Amino acid sequence: YGDASQKVDYVFKVVLIGDSAVGKSQILARFARDEFSLDSKATIGVEFQTRTLVIQHKSVKAQIWDTAGQERYRAVTSAYYRGAVGALLVYDITKRQTFEHIPRWLEELRGHADKNIVIMLVGNKIDLEDQRAVATEDAKEFAEKEGLFFLETSALDSTNVETAFNTVLNEIFSIVN
Ligand code: GDP
Ligand code: MG
Repeated sequence: YGDASQKVDYVFKVVLIGDSAVGKSQILARFARDEFSLDSKATIGVEFQTRTLVIQHKSVKAQIWDTAGQERYRAVTSAYYRGAVGALLVYDITKRQTFEHIPRWLEELRGHADKNIVIMLVGNKIDLEDQRAVATEDAKEFAEKEGLFFLETSALDSTNVETAFNTVLNEIFSIVN
């Protein structure tokens, strides 16, 4: 009701995409609620969570969408992508196949989303370094070629989760300002 402390200057929709079990829901849980679960249930129903932050004295509500267990190729609906201004494209560094599917996800994202969408490639589960199956250099090279931001994260120990979202949100902010 017009309380200045609740004023929201911007709402940015950011989507999480990538194969099943790469850690999308746990990355979101870590960012939105600072929580993590080792036996997370497959996500049911399209969902988003929000977190409001301040960027350059403006209140920015990040509305982060998580897939409804629709990670099969082409099963994510266009409604999911509609209006998205940012995306985290997630693979699991211990599962080579999840990285090999990234070009498909990128193609689908680019086919549905705004052409100025800010995309961060995210290699998750770096706490499992001893099981690594995707070299950092390979992902970095792919990201550079495609013009994506790139970070490796761990939703389990929190490494780079904040940085991943903050980088995307700050970049979106700079585009609209
Ligand atoms: P989603 O299908 O992409 O949403 O994947 P989930 O978030 O449900 O995670 C799948 C499984 O990986 C769950 O057992 C999580 O606890 C686990 N997981 C997610 N992120 C990490 C991480 O950073 N490190 C480790 N070791 N496990 C993780
Ligand atoms: Mg999930």
